[in-house]
Amino acid sequence: MEKTGIVHDGVSIKIYDTEDPEKVIISFTDEITAYKKIKKAVIKGKGKYCNGISCEISRILQENGVPTSFIEKLSDTEQLCWKTSVIPMEVIVRNVIAGSMAQRLGLEEGIVPKEPVYDLCYKSDILCDPLINDSQALAIGLVSQEELNQIYSMTQKVNAVLVPMFKSIGITLVDFKTEYGHMPDGSLVMSDDITPDSARLWDIATGQRLDKDRFRHDNGKVGEAYKDVYERLTNREKFL
Ligand code: 5GP
Repeated sequence: MEKTGIVHDGVSIKIYDTEDPEKVIISFTDEITAYKKIKKAVIKGKGKYCNGISCEISRILQENGVPTSFIEKLSDTEQLCWKTSVIPMEVIVRNVIAGSMAQRLGLEEGIVPKEPVYDLCYKSDILCDPLINDSQALAIGLVSQEELNQIYSMTQKVNAVLVPMFKSIGITLVDFKTEYGHMPDGSLVMSDDITPDSARLWDIATGQRLDKDRFRHDNGKVGEAYKDVYERLTNREKFL
């Protein structure tokens, strides 16, 4: 499949149109950013690990009945996906309190809430993706009530599939961010990649962070952590 033009020229992800108007190629780079792209670095192998992790997670979700825009892995750093019209709204799931929720509410990182927490954010670089609630999402026309119900039920399913899967490879799925979009036929699918860039992953045995927080907090060994997640995910039979 040939690339015909660039749709999204991001730092760590680039999206290309293809000869087929309904399909795009997503290409992962070795670049990493944090704090609104003020902090940047190149992590050798990151593109390969993120693409591999994303492809594997999309496959697992599809096998478990969650529709996603993923079609197939094309190479170490590229995957073919359906082109969706993405809803500008992030859905964040928190199984353990960390990051912005810990800061906002003055809570210790690591507290397990009584129920998983679901946050919605309006996707806007200028506004820094502000937190919104259900009625705001409906009021500004991001989604209909029916779509919102469907998004919550799909996100619960994603979490119900991924928490035990990560646990089986010795990792706690602390939190993750995902997004949804419409397929050409109008159906709703998960249209985002889940990787250590968009999820917090803590090693169960050591508590070590295996995600972007290593870069955010200058913990070092970022590439090694992403590689570790990639290797555990792609060799799951070894953990059975
Ligand atoms: P927090 O709200 O604590 O900053 O983030 C919660 C989770 O969602 C973290 O795993 C974080 O990496 C992910 N997340 C939040 N916003 C974004 C975003 O704009 N891009 C990506 N890739 N992940 C995000």
